[in-house]
Amino acid sequence: MAGAELIGAEEKREVMDILETGIFMRYGFDEERKGIFKVKEFEEAFAKYLNCGYALGVTSGSAALKVAMTALDVGPGDEVIAPAFDFIATYEAILEVGAIPVMADIDDSLNLDPDKLEDKITSCTKAIIPVHMCGAPARIDKVIEVAKKHNLLVLEDNAQASGGSYKGRKLGTIGDMGILSFDYYKTITTGEGGMVITNDKKLYDRSDWYHDHGHDHNPNVERALEGRTILGFNFRMNEFQGAVGLAQLRKLDYIISEQRKNKAVIKDALGKINGVGFRKLFDPDGDTATFLGFNLPDETITRQFQKALQREGVNTILYKENAWHYAPRWEHLIARSTANSKKYPFTNPMYKGKVDYDVESIPYAENIIGRTLFMIIPVKMPEAKMESIINGIEKASKIL
Ligand SMILES: *Cc1c(COP(=O)(O)O)cnc(C)c1O
Repeated sequence: MAGAELIGAEEKREVMDILETGIFMRYGFDEERKGIFKVKEFEEAFAKYLNCGYALGVTSGSAALKVAMTALDVGPGDEVIAPAFDFIATYEAILEVGAIPVMADIDDSLNLDPDKLEDKITSCTKAIIPVHMCGAPARIDKVIEVAKKHNLLVLEDNAQASGGSYKGRKLGTIGDMGILSFDYYKTITTGEGGMVITNDKKLYDRSDWYHDHGHDHNPNVERALEGRTILGFNFRMNEFQGAVGLAQLRKLDYIISEQRKNKAVIKDALGKINGVGFRKLFDPDGDTATFLGFNLPDETITRQFQKALQREGVNTILYKENAWHYAPRWEHLIARSTANSKKYPFTNPMYKGKVDYDVESIPYAENIIGRTLFMIIPVKMPEAKMESIINGIEKASKIL
């Protein structure tokens, strides 16, 4: 639960500023707002934290994906490659822009496997979305190498690893664009919220225009007189989200460092058990430690161990069972049941490809997702709680 665990006086103080002026919208009301621009301040602070050129606050991580793909001109006729182990929002966002999601295999990091990407590239492929799942980085450098070779765009879905990095660079800033999510489960939260990040001014501008009905946000004229070049929509972040986000961002490094300490202790206990392996971290220094992933030799023993842990009060997630994070489990995707009766975009004549979601094409995901358990690592871990987890692990391990 990360950031949600730490909501307190700092968030309250930031929100009070907004309640004092009564200006809840990020744009306009220049006199009444008395110089308070929480969303803008949040964006600038985040861009600085990530060491990237531009950050744009939006209503959610899902919206951020849609805005970013729109800016990248991903659309009807295009295919976009995403990992089989992913939250469903990535696939939904691809469909939202009229493109077709293509499911790809994962590696030992449980993130997109760059070595198998080329099998999935077709003449329709426009972009690749590596997702930094469960707090830890994908091999983004290798993904970019493959993308460059085939002239494809890279959008990093970093909804689950805010503050993480790969070889010293912050996640989300390495591809052409990146996104973050601040929904209530994520590393830091604004209730609901997201961010689009890029180093490219043109891509930022297109995102900025699209997310606010095409407004060009010309600082020299009032809002009603602003120019426009493209039609857009409304994905504006509001000042409450910006205010809470500012307070949460200041806690991000603390959150990560506490989680890392807690994770290390639990990992140590699990490491003593015969037959337990761990999710591979290609850059352990870049792990945000929101999750600990560990695996057992087969699915049967994994389920048994999960039950044994549960009996000891230790909760884990088996994502092959969890219906929202493993693409072959999405019967509505497989049935092409989009929210319109015409099954658009699957039926779009502009789409010349042929996509399938057969598990045969993702053998490693099928192998590893059913025998990996994830533990959520809290920020706050009182000693008694830690002790009961360690004891629980030891007791449960007797069944192995
Ligand atoms: C949470 C999440 C999203 C969507 O973010 P929301 O803010 O919940 O819309 C997208 N991708 C991944 C991988 C996520 O975990």
